[in-house]
Amino acid sequence: MHIVHIAVEMAPIAKVGGLGDVVTSLSRAVQDLNHNVNIIFPKYDCLNLSHVKDLHYQRSYSWGGTEVKVWFGKVESLSVYFLEPQNGIVWKGCVYGCNNDAERFGFFCHAALEFLHQGGLQPDIIHCHDWSSAPVAWLFKDHYMHYGLSKTRIVFTIHNLEFGANYIAKAMQYADKATTVSHTYAKEVAGNPAVAPNLHKFHGILNGIDLDIWDPYNDKFLPIPYTSENVVEGKQAAKEALQQRLGLKKSDLPVVGIISRLTHQKGIHLIKHAIWRTLERNGQVVLLGSAPDPRIQNDFVNLANQLHSTHGDRARLVLTYDEPLSHLIYAGADFILVPSIFEPCGLTQLTAMRYGSIPVVRKTGGLYDTVFDVDHDKARAEAQGLEPNGFNFDGADSGGVDYALNRALSAWYDGRDWFHSLCKRVMEQDWSWNRPALEYMELYHAAKKY
Ligand code: ADP
Repeated sequence: MHIVHIAVEMAPIAKVGGLGDVVTSLSRAVQDLNHNVNIIFPKYDCLNLSHVKDLHYQRSYSWGGTEVKVWFGKVESLSVYFLEPQNGIVWKGCVYGCNNDAERFGFFCHAALEFLHQGGLQPDIIHCHDWSSAPVAWLFKDHYMHYGLSKTRIVFTIHNLEFGANYIAKAMQYADKATTVSHTYAKEVAGNPAVAPNLHKFHGILNGIDLDIWDPYNDKFLPIPYTSENVVEGKQAAKEALQQRLGLKKSDLPVVGIISRLTHQKGIHLIKHAIWRTLERNGQVVLLGSAPDPRIQNDFVNLANQLHSTHGDRARLVLTYDEPLSHLIYAGADFILVPSIFEPCGLTQLTAMRYGSIPVVRKTGGLYDTVFDVDHDKARAEAQGLEPNGFNFDGADSGGVDYALNRALSAWYDGRDWFHSLCKRVMEQDWSWNRPALEYMELYHAAKKY
């Protein structure tokens, strides 16, 4: 099968959040199943070109009164076409956040379809994502389907319904099949007016993580490689490296890590509460995050300064985007806290488990589908062929997060052997793309029959 993704985020060349991870990892997993996968992508001037191999100019075409240059390169072994229109309106400086985002992404979607049309390419599936490439769905059905691309079908994935609901509603209407990134989030948004009329073609498929990118045995940011066999030794070395790097006291304390965009979705008030609770319980806490909203960023800068003076040996807030540090935190922390108010899938809890860290999460969306409480969810885990793997809580108040965090920290203090066996167990669970990629293939085949 020939699958083309039209997307505006892609790890590691232009990643903002989970959408960028999914485009790359899903494509790689499907390519590994011997299908032909291409990505059409904007040639932002902020691309991280160190991850693009053999980038070269290929050709130009004319569309929308402008010349569009096509560049070709390999990203993580995937073939990517980069579009660079010469009218200068697009893709300066950032992925999102320009005041003409809708205009430039709309232009990109149209230019991408035109690229396929003029190049005589007829993929089986065009896969578009969220509001930013949603226009592909209706531009295709209104126009290109009738001109040369009649065998192509459209699959649309909602990564986060919070952004661009009108665009998402329209793409839902036009796509042949639509997905979102976990079963529980699919249920949670089923009543939303953007989704409800098209439930018959809507499916939840859980995201996975890329085991090559997230591999504690092969991770250049860690002091020693480890697997589940030497998880205790590997995580101890990573914890010491983390404490050293951040100037925290080198001591045998439970470390709670938080790696997150700092937005209301992520449960900011619960994050703040958990920081203080962890300190009260004599733990260490490390937060890596940044806030797109300057007021929230400022608020966290103030908190970071306050903690630096009151608890400098046990708390560190790093308020930036730092991929290498995220690896060290996943490995060096004992717990990764994800108290999101809503979470379509969530990747941080899956990555945490891959590194033998125990997730502590709020029961919502994909967090509910992937984290099974050691005290409460044995039967629910068994139904998935799994053993319990973390701690979870209901509610959106401090009592909920306290309930999970207290049990987690007590488990760490009270039963070190039991805790280590839990770390080993979570590392051995499979949260890769192996299963989701097969589910997407099934969906692509179903779309072709549509
Ligand atoms: P979302 O897409 O809503 O931001 P996800 O959990 O799906 O949330 O994906 C977040 C991804 O971004 C994860 O891979 C996480 O490791 C990464 N990430 C988030 N914040 C940072 C940061 N400040 N520095 C490095 N990586 C980060």
